[in-house]
Amino acid sequence: MSKQEESNLSEEEYLRKHIEGLESNKPSNTQNFQQPEVKVDNSRASDLHYFAFDVKEFPCGVFYPAGSTIQVRAAQVKEIQAYSMVDDNNFYDIVEKMNDMLSSCVRIKYLDGTIGSYMEIRDPDRYYLIFLIRELTFQKGSSLTTTATCECGQEVSIELKRDNFKLFEPSDRILSFFDAISTSFRFEVKNGKVFNLAPPTIGLQKSFTEYIVKENAEKKKPNLSFLKIIPFLLYDRTSITIDGIKSKLEEYQKIDDISFQFLNAAVEKMTFGIEKLRKQCQCGLESHTDMIFPDGPSAIFVVHDAFEQFIKE
Ligand SMILES: [Zn+2]
Repeated sequence: MSKQEESNLSEEEYLRKHIEGLESNKPSNTQNFQQPEVKVDNSRASDLHYFAFDVKEFPCGVFYPAGSTIQVRAAQVKEIQAYSMVDDNNFYDIVEKMNDMLSSCVRIKYLDGTIGSYMEIRDPDRYYLIFLIRELTFQKGSSLTTTATCECGQEVSIELKRDNFKLFEPSDRILSFFDAISTSFRFEVKNGKVFNLAPPTIGLQKSFTEYIVKENAEKKKPNLSFLKIIPFLLYDRTSITIDGIKSKLEEYQKIDDISFQFLNAAVEKMTFGIEKLRKQCQCGLESHTDMIFPDGPSAIFVVHDAFEQFIKE
C-alpha cells in the first residue's frame, strides 16, 4: 500500500483492514521451542462445559506461555441472539460482537492454574476461535461452506472449519529471532536498539480501537503508521489508556530513521492467522480460496435456511 493510499484510510477502513487482516500463523518448527507436554482434557469439563485446547493448535500458539491451554465452550442461545444482530456493514460492530462472543466463551488457563480472559488472547487468533466456538455450538452439522474452483475445472465445496484452514507461516528467517522466554521476537538492530515484537492481544487492540473511534469523533486523522507498528511493541500488555496511547504517539514521532525503517519492515513479516481455506479436490490437487464469510459475519452463528430446516409439515 502506498503512503498516499494509507493516508486516505478512514477509521472504518482501518478497522476493516484490521478485522480482515486474518492475522496469525503457525510456525513449522514449533517443537524447537520446547513446549512442555500439555494434557488436553476434551471431556465435558464442569458445569460450564469448557473444552481445553493446547495453545500449540492456534495460529499464535508460540506467543502464549508454554503449557497454557485455551478453554472454549459452545455459545448459548442468549449469546447467539446477541451476535445475530451484528451489522455486517459496520466493522466496529463486527469487532465488538465478536469480542462479546469471545468474552463469554473463551478463557486461557496457564500452567500454574491461573485463568486469564479473552483479553489475553492474541488478536490474530480471533477468527480461529470464533470458528472453533461455532464448531462446538453446531456439533450436529449446520455447515458454512464456500466454493473454490480447482485447476482441473471442478468446483470444490469447502467448509469453514479448522481442518480446512491454512494458516500463515512466518519464514524460518523471522522464526530464528524468536525468544521463548519472552514469547516474542527479539531483534538487535545495528543502531544499538533492541526491540521485542509480537502480535498484540485482543485487549490491547480494544484500547486502540477505542482511541481510533474517539479521534475520529474529534475529526482527527489517525496516524496509521503508528497504529500499524506500536501494538506489536506493546505485545505484553492487555490494555492502555488513551493518555498512554497519546504519549506513545509522541515518542513514536521522535523515533530515529533506522528504528522506524526497521520496525516498519519487521511488522510486515509478522502476519499470523488464517491465510486461506483449502481442500483436496477429487483430482488430487489441493484447491484454495480466500478466507471469506459466506453471507457476512452475521451468518456465522445463524442456521442457514432455518425456516425450511425446522418447519414441521
Ligand atoms: Zn481438481
